[in-house]
Amino acid sequence: MKSLKQFIRDECANYFSELNTIKDYCCMEKFPNNKCVYFTDVENPQCYYFEECVLPLDKDLEIVYYTQQEKGALSKDEVQTLINSQKIQIICARCGKVFYTNYNRQQYCELCANIIRREKNRERVQKHRKGIM
Ligand SMILES: [Zn+2]
Repeated sequence: MKSLKQFIRDECANYFSELNTIKDYCCMEKFPNNKCVYFTDVENPQCYYFEECVLPLDKDLEIVYYTQQEKGALSKDEVQTLINSQKIQIICARCGKVFYTNYNRQQYCELCANIIRREKNRERVQKHRKGIM
């Protein structure tokens, strides 16, 4: 998961890393500061535009954001637990490892899914070669 600041840098249309010598500029903020509230020392910063238009792009970040607004800062472990609790727990059909996903049709953990994809590719290539010979 991205940090909130990194997410804003990447996704928020109002954010500029620097403008008129103001770092972390936000075109929604008022003079003289014009700084994105999430880059200031303000306690519990809130930006309507961000919450409505930017945050919904990342469901994990969104749930962490609102939980922290409500309960204060969370540790790394608490964040991970929170994210996992929103997801479906699945046991990988290949290696038996437990993993978490948003998609209930997913059968394999990421590692196994990659291996299986590679094996299928190889089979396809071999069949194709046999066909030619
Ligand atoms: Zn697996």
